[in-house]
Amino acid sequence: MSAAHPISSTRRLLSRLRDVMAGSGTAQERLGKVVAAIAADLVTEVCSVYLLRAGEVLELFATQGLKPSAVHKTRLRLGEGLIGEIAAHASPLALSDAQNHPSFAFRPETGEEAFHSMMGVPLVREGRVIGVLAVQNRTKRQYSEEELETLETVAMVLSELVCGSELVGREETLPVDGIGLLPLRLEGTFLNGGLAQGVAVLHRPRFVVRQLVAEEPDKELEDLGAAIKDMHGALDRMLESTLVTSGEHRDVLEAYRMIAEDAGWLSRIEDAVRSGLTAPAAVQKVQNDTRLRMNQIADPYFRERIQDLDDLANRLLQHLLGDGPGLDVSELPENVILVARNLGPAELLDYDPKRLRGLILEEGSPSSHVAIIARALDIPVVGRVAGVLAKIESLDPVIVDGDNAQVFLRPGEDVAQVFYDSIAAREQRRAIFARLRDLPAETPDGHAISLMLNAGLLVDVQHLAESGADGIGLYRTEIPFMVRAELPDVESQATLYRKVLDEAGGRPVVFRTLDAGGDKVLPYWNSTEEEENPAMGWRAIRLTLDRPAILRQQLRALLLAGAGHDLRIMFPMIAEVAEFDAARRLLDRELSRHAAAGGAPPSDLRVGAMLEVPSLLFQMPALLKRVDFLSVGSNDLFQFLFASDRGNPRLIDRYDPLSPPVLNALRTVVVNCAEKGVPVSLCGEMGGHPLDAMALLGVGFRTISMSPPAVGAIKAMVRSLDLGELEHYIRGLCETDGHTLRPKLRAYAKDHGVAI
Ligand code: PEP
Ligand code: MG
Repeated sequence: MSAAHPISSTRRLLSRLRDVMAGSGTAQERLGKVVAAIAADLVTEVCSVYLLRAGEVLELFATQGLKPSAVHKTRLRLGEGLIGEIAAHASPLALSDAQNHPSFAFRPETGEEAFHSMMGVPLVREGRVIGVLAVQNRTKRQYSEEELETLETVAMVLSELVCGSELVGREETLPVDGIGLLPLRLEGTFLNGGLAQGVAVLHRPRFVVRQLVAEEPDKELEDLGAAIKDMHGALDRMLESTLVTSGEHRDVLEAYRMIAEDAGWLSRIEDAVRSGLTAPAAVQKVQNDTRLRMNQIADPYFRERIQDLDDLANRLLQHLLGDGPGLDVSELPENVILVARNLGPAELLDYDPKRLRGLILEEGSPSSHVAIIARALDIPVVGRVAGVLAKIESLDPVIVDGDNAQVFLRPGEDVAQVFYDSIAAREQRRAIFARLRDLPAETPDGHAISLMLNAGLLVDVQHLAESGADGIGLYRTEIPFMVRAELPDVESQATLYRKVLDEAGGRPVVFRTLDAGGDKVLPYWNSTEEEENPAMGWRAIRLTLDRPAILRQQLRALLLAGAGHDLRIMFPMIAEVAEFDAARRLLDRELSRHAAAGGAPPSDLRVGAMLEVPSLLFQMPALLKRVDFLSVGSNDLFQFLFASDRGNPRLIDRYDPLSPPVLNALRTVVVNCAEKGVPVSLCGEMGGHPLDAMALLGVGFRTISMSPPAVGAIKAMVRSLDLGELEHYIRGLCETDGHTLRPKLRAYAKDHGVAI
């Protein structure tokens, strides 16, 4: 036996299998012939098929080479032995010395002690493992990559045979924890806030590839080529469609479009066709293989790319098979809560955004493309809801509480009523805030407050006009960096920043330079070191000062975009004055370069720092001599002041920003800035909560930056607040020593008619 198993012999084996499958006999008999054919073709002494039965047990269903009496007797739990391990991890194994593998579980009834090497692959159907196909040899054989490929191709064909055969009753293969139709509350991960109610629409690719083995491989290749061309054309049209005109969600789609051109992906499909599969079967095989291989990878970026590839594979199948999950919009309910294992960005856009109310995913992460698109569409999303697809039926009533990362399936009347009321109240508040849009953010005692937006997507900037905010107080430039497949070059950054400035229409925009690193992973970043405390690690200005080319390119892009504009640049995570000086020097170099190249200067350039590391509190005089403005990043400042990880759910309520240490620190900043005439603002999350924002005004802030949906509520608070009186009250409170000032401030707001 040669080490390799060339494509032509895979093709021969597949056509043998096709004949067996089409032949006579019961499913069990045909399965017996299949294992014999595989063993003969791959020159293995053993070939066995194990199928998953109810109770997560893998049962030997057919074998060539092991003792026939073991069939239907030998059983392994999922995870038990090598077979159980292949099924549990949904990943192949090829071992020359299987018996010495730590997971080996000896089953004497099979007679397998004679066989030393083994190679096994999972049988997978619709993303679920349904069994294992394994071969064994007496010698310590080294199975080649090509042989493994062949076994995977065969496994795919076999999975279809098994599923179409009733070898295992369908009810047995359903997930075991079916929950009946009781109301259920499930928790997940926050991917986007908001509240929605509607009915479940289950997103499952519904393609059934019936013909697996090609009659005419050349014709299949032709069909594949045509379908790829069609798919590319359709994607281009989608990109041109009005819904996705601009912004980072367009970038996401463009990155996706690039994956659709990926030569590796396409050639793997072509190879699978050459090995004897039909074009649709080849797409499905590559889809299965990719999923299984990439599922082993921990890197979140690569795991997200599985989704893009899944999405593309389904799309390609749609072009090959002509129908499939094409959505008939007229059939969709009015209030769609979409439920999916995961989704690609384009798949989400296949659903009519007017009907889409919420999204529930079994997988998904905050940086996933689909989450970014969902945020742009302003729908609540809860991710990582374990097993939701198995627990929900199509058209079940569902409530998605994105704010609390929970979903209610088939909610009882009481629960539903609470949410209907709160959805209605939200709608009402929205209407009231919309009416405030054109009124000034001014307190009744005459203090003008500047309300700014935090933004990271171009769509956030588009909220400027509708929110009535005064400008962008924080533009988080890392978000566009995070959604791209590669580091954006100067020109594409400049184009984006230009769009942001255009969209802002003359209102100020504060661009914060890259705050990447730590947990904000850039996909193309080759940092292999795991950090124990990423928030306190190599991130933001630390990273960009160590890799100055990146910062210089970003500054260059900002200068190009800001030519003739009011340009504001802010450096994140400054911990000492020297860091600000170093960043400023880079900016000065870029300014000279820009001028030498004939670039127009900004009409006004202001350079500031974020105050989010407590060490800066003790360098205020030196810092204030250098900066044009300061912005307090209260999210980080708070976590560092209390040494309390902002992402740790156990610590969320442990300390309160409305407490004497925080408010005293903030007052010190404001007083110092006022003395030196340096404008100061705050751009952390607390600025978006009315009671917290009230306290901020009380300690002296006059500019606050917040997420777009918060502006209405904060403006309502401002317009109902007598600030002079509050300032006096807060001064006294800050001298107390309580754990939290929240109850007192809430009572104050109530007593004084402040809208919080
Ligand atoms: C902050 O730390 O408060 C802040 C605004 O920055 P980010 O949340 O992006 O770290
Ligand atoms: Mg920060």
